[in-house]
Amino acid sequence: MFRLDAGQVYRAEALEQLPWLEHGFGTRSSPNWPGASDLATLRQIHSNQVVLAESAGDLGEGDALISNVPGVTLVVRTADCLPILIADPRNRAIAAVHAGWRGTVLEIVGATMGAMTSRFGTRQDELVFAIGPGIGPCCYQVGPEVAERFAPFFPERQDLSGATKVGLAETVIRQLRRPGGTMGQIDPSGLCTCCLPDLFYSYRRDGEAAGRMLSTIRIR
Ligand SMILES: [Zn+2]
Repeated sequence: MFRLDAGQVYRAEALEQLPWLEHGFGTRSSPNWPGASDLATLRQIHSNQVVLAESAGDLGEGDALISNVPGVTLVVRTADCLPILIADPRNRAIAAVHAGWRGTVLEIVGATMGAMTSRFGTRQDELVFAIGPGIGPCCYQVGPEVAERFAPFFPERQDLSGATKVGLAETVIRQLRRPGGTMGQIDPSGLCTCCLPDLFYSYRRDGEAAGRMLSTIRIR
């Protein structure tokens, strides 16, 4: 479950239960968010590239940050793409992921988990995932060349050879829950950035003029 706090920042209950970290999903009504100065950021390129954040600053190109260093604020920017924040309670490690359609079908969440396992000893079935606001299957109409990339994750769907609608969050959840996958705790927002113009920027709705929301996670 997600809740909107007094500063117009969304909080995921699954992450709020972990007292050793802080997190939030900014909206278009949270201009002072995140306020911190120790931000670790990426030049996002719609890849499945994972970057280790040992300190704050511009850490180059990539679409996921991982860290176990207290006080470093991991940041991803989105406006329809999914922001996904991940916590490993046993090893006190965190991740922030930017997943548009390319990152989603490239399984950037799986790549992030793999990097956490090799770096921190993370056990994937112990992870907590908060899947933030992004464009929903209500609004995400795609052409056949994009739709067909989702077919491996939706074997029951016959419509993915043509133009249709797809859901990024459901695709990520299916990747996590498939046989042999992780069964960590998953907290999805269910919020569509395109449907809720008062709360969110949306690239699909607003075009190039769309702003970006900042989602962050840090170890205290
Ligand atoms: Zn929608």
